[in-house]
Amino acid sequence: MSSLTNSPQNPSNAHLDLPPLPMDADGIAEGFSRYYAYTFGRDQDCQSAYYPYKALTMTLRDRLMERWNQTRRAYDDSKCKRTYYLSLEFLMGRALSNAMLNLNLNQAAEQGLYQLGRVLEEIASNEPDPGLGNGGLGRLAACFLDSCATLQLPVRGYGLRYEYGMFRQQIENGAQIEEPDHWLRDGNPWEQERPEFTQRIQFYGRTESYKDHSGRLAVRWVDTHDVLAVPYDIPVPGYRNNTVNTLRLWKAAATDEFDLGEFNAGSYPESVAQKNDAEHITMVLYPNDASENGKELRLRQQFFLASASIKDVLRDWIRLHGRDFSRFAELNSFQLNDTHPAVSVAELMRQLIDEQHLEWDEAWAITSQTMAYTNHTLLPEALERWPVRLFQLLLPRILEIIYEINARFLDEVSQHWPGDIDRLRRMSLIEEGDDPQVRMAYLAIVGSYSVNGVAALHSQLLVEGLFRDFHELWPHKFNNKTNGVTPRRWLAQCNPGLRGLLDETIGSDWVCNLDQLSRLVPHADDPAFRERWHAIKQENKQRLADQVAEICRVDLPVDALFDVQVKRIHEYKRQLLNILHVIHLYSRIKQGDTQNWTPRCVLFGGKAAPGYVMAKQIIKLINNVAKVVNKDPATEGLLRVAFIPDYRVSLMEVIAPGTDLSEQISTAGKEASGTGNMKFMMNGAVTIGTLDGANIEIREQVGEENFFLFGLTAAGVESLRNHYDPNGIIASDPVLRNVINLLECGHFNQFEPGIFDAIIHSIRNPHDPWMTAADFDSYVEAQEQAAATYRDRERWLRMSILNAASSGYFSSDRTIAEYNQDIWKLPTIQPSR
Ligand code: PLP
Repeated sequence: MSSLTNSPQNPSNAHLDLPPLPMDADGIAEGFSRYYAYTFGRDQDCQSAYYPYKALTMTLRDRLMERWNQTRRAYDDSKCKRTYYLSLEFLMGRALSNAMLNLNLNQAAEQGLYQLGRVLEEIASNEPDPGLGNGGLGRLAACFLDSCATLQLPVRGYGLRYEYGMFRQQIENGAQIEEPDHWLRDGNPWEQERPEFTQRIQFYGRTESYKDHSGRLAVRWVDTHDVLAVPYDIPVPGYRNNTVNTLRLWKAAATDEFDLGEFNAGSYPESVAQKNDAEHITMVLYPNDASENGKELRLRQQFFLASASIKDVLRDWIRLHGRDFSRFAELNSFQLNDTHPAVSVAELMRQLIDEQHLEWDEAWAITSQTMAYTNHTLLPEALERWPVRLFQLLLPRILEIIYEINARFLDEVSQHWPGDIDRLRRMSLIEEGDDPQVRMAYLAIVGSYSVNGVAALHSQLLVEGLFRDFHELWPHKFNNKTNGVTPRRWLAQCNPGLRGLLDETIGSDWVCNLDQLSRLVPHADDPAFRERWHAIKQENKQRLADQVAEICRVDLPVDALFDVQVKRIHEYKRQLLNILHVIHLYSRIKQGDTQNWTPRCVLFGGKAAPGYVMAKQIIKLINNVAKVVNKDPATEGLLRVAFIPDYRVSLMEVIAPGTDLSEQISTAGKEASGTGNMKFMMNGAVTIGTLDGANIEIREQVGEENFFLFGLTAAGVESLRNHYDPNGIIASDPVLRNVINLLECGHFNQFEPGIFDAIIHSIRNPHDPWMTAADFDSYVEAQEQAAATYRDRERWLRMSILNAASSGYFSSDRTIAEYNQDIWKLPTIQPSR
């Protein structure tokens, strides 16, 4: 018995001397059968589709386990620098097909299961799609983990193990209905609970001074209500390189004595209620994309993640290096994914000072050379601020530390700009007022050695606008890291047809070196290659059309232009502009203006935050327009519109390969980067877009002749703001006037009077921040160009090929290589076998 335990004296399991697990079809079949029959006790009579999925997952997980331990050991042995990616969201998507791709086990699994009379694809489709994120920010974190493992960088993700992920969206009578997503109901076979690394997290209570053992005056946080943080590890396999990194997710659990105290006082129900209260912390993901929240539970989630993760890192540090922190900053960095984990700045200070007994200056030197912050938004409503009173109640010791950081920071500001009171007020970490607020972005900037935006324009606008004062003080901190997406999931895995053609044409190195795609450029002029490209696109469109037929009961002709906008529903992303264009197309059909018509299928998808009334009305409008258009016989063969419900990672894996035209039409200066735009490009879609976020870099890479540009620039938007006259624009543009007339006369809401009044009002509002009317005319013109180009099949195919060929820059491998070169400075570590 004792020879099998992992005691500190015997930290490796190499002494078990187990042979590596077989990676061939027979081995997979045997592993599968064992789990299915012996572990889960199922046989041929079992009707549940879940157990085959679970048995296959366990079989694959076993094959990751040895590599996972070896990777961990290699990092420990090298005592190398490490980075911790802190994020409240990891939108991982399904893991099974990704693990098979990265372990090169696809064929073996397919054959092994075939021997057992089973179909791999069917089994894989039963995996729940873990939706532990809202959209771009969470999916970016997932792509980054994939790239870190593939580049063999010692990076660990830290997040929360939400019991309920992103809500499931249903559409009823055209409107969004939210349903809870209890994705963990059947358990998660990928995760491994690690109760031995449980941490204790403090909340509430008060602070008091005391003299420590050396007589020094110190502070402690007492009378707290503690919650346990229990880690669950998820393996993150690199692409065929034996590295398996870790995503560690924390689950909240009540402490035993917490319950016991109440129980002894005779109030059992209260003790159970308090247990629930503790466990609420990781019960549900907040479903708001790009808007601040202000709810106490959200701040509890943020601190819970920060405190547990930092404690875990310090525990690891002490295990490997003892209590000497002099090299801590040299060997550790934390990347903060937006301000959500920004309280980490103060919490690292607290743990170093109160728990490790460092002096303030030493702790600050460590913290401010360890933290790095990524900003994700320019929207003011998304900039997190927390009421001071909430901090005072929930995290009193953290508030004291923030005050001290602020006092010292404002000293520095006064020395830099003596007498500039206004600047002190602007830059303070505390926003004064009736209800003073802690400005989390400023805390993140002051406490970090690197601050980055996520696309060139975004980073530039940050230092010119929102963070201008800070840039003047510390220009060296600011940098840009244009987002990217992983070519494993977003090309190799989701588009097997194209993968085959690429492998055959340019070899398979592109999977880990996406710049290789540029070798496709000469083939864009080869008619035979174009034909093959076309055939693959048509197959992918058919796959998408089949899904839309099944889900939405709308038939899409695959020769039509597939025009797609999928992303969160938000006014700045302007799904409204898109649907206004659809109304215009419909009106043209009704007027018989269909000469040289390009048949078009316009697809929408995306969730609205449950409390975001305008976004929900936009969903309703899209669905009402779709209903009128699709049932009108005049549109047959010319126009189809569909809203695909419950947009998520697994749907995007079908949508991106089957798209011709990618809609990236945000108001310039509002979209930080976008990553959907990159996934479409990689799969050969052509973009219609504004000069916003990473669209600008997409257009630079592919060339302006292969991009449908329209709309105001960011500077144009700002200079128009004070004299924007949408009613004048509508009056003078007969096309837009006609569209607005159709809306105003209730053509799409005949039995629901007035339901779109707020939308119409927003378009006509001179203070419309999204300036929908301003860009309408230029959007329609770009759409006409796109339609005309699509009719010229050879020209379109050339554009499609060149888009994919120019997408190498948007690999998250490039992004992560830049983070590493400029910010993290990690070595690559190869696990020894
Ligand atoms: N949601 C999912 C499921 C995604 O895959 C992506 C990115 O591709 C996004 C949201 C973000 O999309 P966008 O960058 O278009 O806002």
